[in-house]
Amino acid sequence: MVTYGTPVVSFEFFPPKNEAGTRALWKAIRQVESCAPSFVSVTYGAGGSSRERTVEVTERILAHTTLRPVAHLTAVGHSVAELRRIVGRYADIGVRDVLVLRGDPPGDPRGPWIPHPQGLRHAAELVALVRESGDFSVGVAAFPERHPRSPDWESDIRNFVAKCRAGADYAITQMFFNADDYLRLRDRVAAAGCDTPIIPEIMPATDVRQIRRFAELSDAAFPDALADRLERARDDPAEGHRIGVDHATSMAALLLAAGAPGLHFITLNRPQAVLDIHRNLQTSRSFSVR
Ligand code: FAD
Repeated sequence: MVTYGTPVVSFEFFPPKNEAGTRALWKAIRQVESCAPSFVSVTYGAGGSSRERTVEVTERILAHTTLRPVAHLTAVGHSVAELRRIVGRYADIGVRDVLVLRGDPPGDPRGPWIPHPQGLRHAAELVALVRESGDFSVGVAAFPERHPRSPDWESDIRNFVAKCRAGADYAITQMFFNADDYLRLRDRVAAAGCDTPIIPEIMPATDVRQIRRFAELSDAAFPDALADRLERARDDPAEGHRIGVDHATSMAALLLAAGAPGLHFITLNRPQAVLDIHRNLQTSRSFSVR
């Protein structure tokens, strides 16, 4: 069973594409290290060389920092044999934590999901594969506004619970901007008899253009009032930063007070906004409400 402490505080990074990106990533990693997070996670790309970089960055974090790296892994484009090799490599280099995802169709994330002919169809199958492959902690994805391809809540919750029962220790949500969406999901999962901790993902909305793009890609509803305030600050990055940090701080404090097991911060490898939120929550003692 996973032991990340309570509340869990984690930060998410993506593997860089070039030298400048590598420098930005390592600066970001060193910045969050001082917060002594429970873990940091590294995303897995849709295909190509960025996938190899996920393994490299994860390995380097393990070797050169005090941080505990969680490697994201998706089933996209991989046969079962390849998935076993990747998980085996993690075991060999000492990575013990995997965030298991099905992934989205490469090219068009909204297109139909076509599994690899010798691969897996759903995240639950990859959870079972990782579990069989060694002593890993396993996380999975949760969707406060339900998975965009789920036809209804009933099947969405049923499949989520099946994924947890296949061996997940915890879940991390998709980004969301209304605390009620998280609380309703948690209630639905609890009503289905599942007590897997669900960690809310915090994505500060500091730039209206960027956040509209992300919200569209993830199907997250973006509150009109927040969008209007950010729209007015479109050409004032400092004001956008303040609005995004304030909104995320309030939502995060509310979630912790309502019993959320922790927070997972998206950094986009530029962690200033999430570090400001983290500091605000510490100052207001939100991390010790329970
Ligand atoms: P699943 O749990 O397999 O669910 C996908 C859909 O299939 C749902 O509608 C579900 O209800 C349905 N389903 C599940 N089981 C069954 C079944 N037995 N029968 C019928 N239907 C079923 N993507 C990346 O490419 N790389 C990343 O690093 C990455 N990191 C992420 C991190 C987080 C915290 C989150 C929330 C998402 C991340 N994603 C990432 C995106 C994720 O891969 C997509 O959202 C994907 O569409 C869903 O993945 P899943 O693991 O939830 O899939």
